[in-house]
Amino acid sequence: MTFEDFNLKRELINAIDNIGFKEPSPIQRDAIPTILSGKDMIGQAQTGTGKTAAFGLPIINMIEPKRGVDALVIVPTRELAMQVSDELYRFGKELGIKTATVYGGASYSRQIDRISQANIIVATPGRLLDLLQSKRIEISPRFVVLDEADEMLDMGFLDEIKEIFRYLPENRQTLMFSATMPKQIEELAVEILNEPETITITKRERTNQDITQKFYVVSERERDDALLRLIDYKNPSKCIIFCRMKREVDRLSSYMTSQGFKVASLHGDMEQKQREHTIRAFKSGMVDIFIATDVAARGLDVNDVSHVFNYHIPFDSESYVHRIGRTGRAGKKGEAITLVTPDELRTIKKIEKDVGTKLISKVVPTKQELRDKRDSDLLSRVANTKITQDGIDVVKSLQHDIDIVTIAQLLASMIREDEVSLKGKESIGLTKKEIDRLMSKSSRRRDRDRRRGGRRRGSRAGRGRSRR
Ligand code: ADP
Ligand code: MG
Repeated sequence: MTFEDFNLKRELINAIDNIGFKEPSPIQRDAIPTILSGKDMIGQAQTGTGKTAAFGLPIINMIEPKRGVDALVIVPTRELAMQVSDELYRFGKELGIKTATVYGGASYSRQIDRISQANIIVATPGRLLDLLQSKRIEISPRFVVLDEADEMLDMGFLDEIKEIFRYLPENRQTLMFSATMPKQIEELAVEILNEPETITITKRERTNQDITQKFYVVSERERDDALLRLIDYKNPSKCIIFCRMKREVDRLSSYMTSQGFKVASLHGDMEQKQREHTIRAFKSGMVDIFIATDVAARGLDVNDVSHVFNYHIPFDSESYVHRIGRTGRAGKKGEAITLVTPDELRTIKKIEKDVGTKLISKVVPTKQELRDKRDSDLLSRVANTKITQDGIDVVKSLQHDIDIVTIAQLLASMIREDEVSLKGKESIGLTKKEIDRLMSKSSRRRDRDRRRGGRRRGSRAGRGRSRR
């Protein structure tokens, strides 16, 4: 199937070609015809599955530029607002479709001015409701999209969303997208949607096969050493390190900076300007290590993230899926690495069950292994380097005083000097044997519990019976 099959406007097909999408993703395949047919829709699919184009393309195809604001897209965060509006702008540019982005913390007058010329508004709930309630804007969009609905719920926007819908025309096409379907979101759907069609991208398709998932068992106080050793060893081209709390983000960023790493960090309390700056630095590759909390990084669309590190394992499987979905995008390979303590192995098992894939247990490389890897990396770098005239000239003039072997040794030592020195203990974390023992112990305990009717409490009664 291709995008041509949807009978979209010529300009839209051109835009898709220019952006480089080759074929529709599963959610796009199902959602685009549904939306074009005029039906309300609920789309349930994981992050990174292409939901923006799934609603953006059909809506832009149906919009009339003359009608003023014809579509409204509500998203939970400012970052998403900017990201979604960027993508919609790229789709609609050739058709003369204008977008306006609306979020808190920015000038009212500029936003109102933009809205007056726009065909699509992409907005966060707070500022949008503010503008509607104060009657500073009046809109009657035919298309309304609620993006990342479960995230809105988590962030406490449910009441504001319901209030916003009181200002929207009854006669509209409404689309709702959500990665998960908590009960309150189902109830909201009943309230705002009209005989919707539900499109679910099934669990099987949910974890991306392009992501290798690994975990390392370490003690609580080895986390920092293990993380740095792994980053040294893996040498990620671009990575995100997830922490549970903002405090942890701050501490880890200053620690890593003190250890000679260049990092950027993101959390909910940062000022808007600073956040934008940070994200831009990461996207453009000025910084290649990004430290963030779940909330701050959710939905962020950064390409080419080679590794995701979970400094702490997330509390639930859903956020695990969201986190690791930052890598392995657009057909590229990615690696997701989770640090756990022996106590947290239970959470690994739970994630494996919920997500339906196995995480591979690994041992943190020793100092010697890291040294060996640096050696072989250097050798292949040398082997792949092309000899330049500058290089020839340098050696020629050195050769007057120094023999050729010494020159080579000096140059190699110079390269080595630039590397961050090796830190931490020789071995970090549990060995393969220790991990295997722990894993089989916990699964033996589970089997035993299952035989006893799945309840630990039942253990005493069980023992009593077998004795009798
Ligand atoms: P979601 O909203 O489901 O998290 P996005 O809409 O942000 O996902 O899309 C994720 C990434 O995939 C974006 O960079 C987007 O440009 C890209 N993308 C979307 N659809 C396609 C497609 N059909 N082919 C290739 N890349 C796509
Ligand atoms: Mg999205």
